[in-house]
Amino acid sequence: MSGSLVKVREVGLRDGLQMVEHFVPTEVKLAWLREEADAGVASFEITSFVSKSRMPQFADAEYMVDAASGFSGLETTVLTLNARGAQRAIEAGANRLVFVLSASGAHSRGNAGRETDAALQEFASVVQLARDVDPQRRPRIEAGIATAFGCTMEGSIDPGRVRQLATRLAELGADEIMLADTVGYAQPRQVGQLFAQVRGDIGALPLGGHFHDTRGLALANVVAALDAGVTKFDASLGGLGGCPFAPGASGNVAMEDLVYLLQAMGCETGIDLQALLAVRKRLSDWLPGVPLYGALATAGLPRHFNKTQTAALAH
Ligand code: ZN
Repeated sequence: MSGSLVKVREVGLRDGLQMVEHFVPTEVKLAWLREEADAGVASFEITSFVSKSRMPQFADAEYMVDAASGFSGLETTVLTLNARGAQRAIEAGANRLVFVLSASGAHSRGNAGRETDAALQEFASVVQLARDVDPQRRPRIEAGIATAFGCTMEGSIDPGRVRQLATRLAELGADEIMLADTVGYAQPRQVGQLFAQVRGDIGALPLGGHFHDTRGLALANVVAALDAGVTKFDASLGGLGGCPFAPGASGNVAMEDLVYLLQAMGCETGIDLQALLAVRKRLSDWLPGVPLYGALATAGLPRHFNKTQTAALAH
């Protein structure tokens, strides 16, 4: 694992802001994007193409896609739950879409207003929409499986169901698959096992992990996924986030804690942790009154951490 490259994606601008009740001004979102990109974060989920009346936080989705296209070298993804949203995203010029469906039927009905099997059909339409785009501009389509490790409404989720969904999404044309612990129910053994099984089912297709720290196990789950060969993770600066349709869910794994964990273990992230912590401080000014989480921002970096980190990378 030492020296291996791990990709982290900031999802706070979508997963985080959907829990913030007021509309965060577009300039603030763009300042956050710019400053975190300057700290070395190369991948962001920037907005959500859902109904503007349902989620006014993302009323500026088209504008965000357009503005983000001005940042060179950044990978920017937008979320969509249906073909209508995907169509809007493609028209706006988005080049990476993540389509999220739920392994839990109850969560699927709450979050997307349809059963999981109907969501699979919707995913097929989204893939078709992408394939209709001129090959040079064709967006990449990622499929995310929410509540893959448990659901606040249904309780445990059959891992066989998640494997079936991942296989089906791969067959339908997903370019990448992501398993999400939307409500923080996962534990490391379960995570290691399910990722290893899904990896076996879908072959070489890129596979990512999205963990919430609702019960304090997010970092342990990241390590289990890393050990199962996963090298892409979502996180949110200050642990911002949750899911409005999964009662009790709170906080993505904190970006700065995730990067600290990875660097402490000798993985390469391309991120300047001091600079990232400085952006984390700015986030509390940008989002006054919004609670932030995470251990590193409270405790600070260990003494000589950077030296240790350099030494680890040299091996
Ligand atoms: Zn999430």
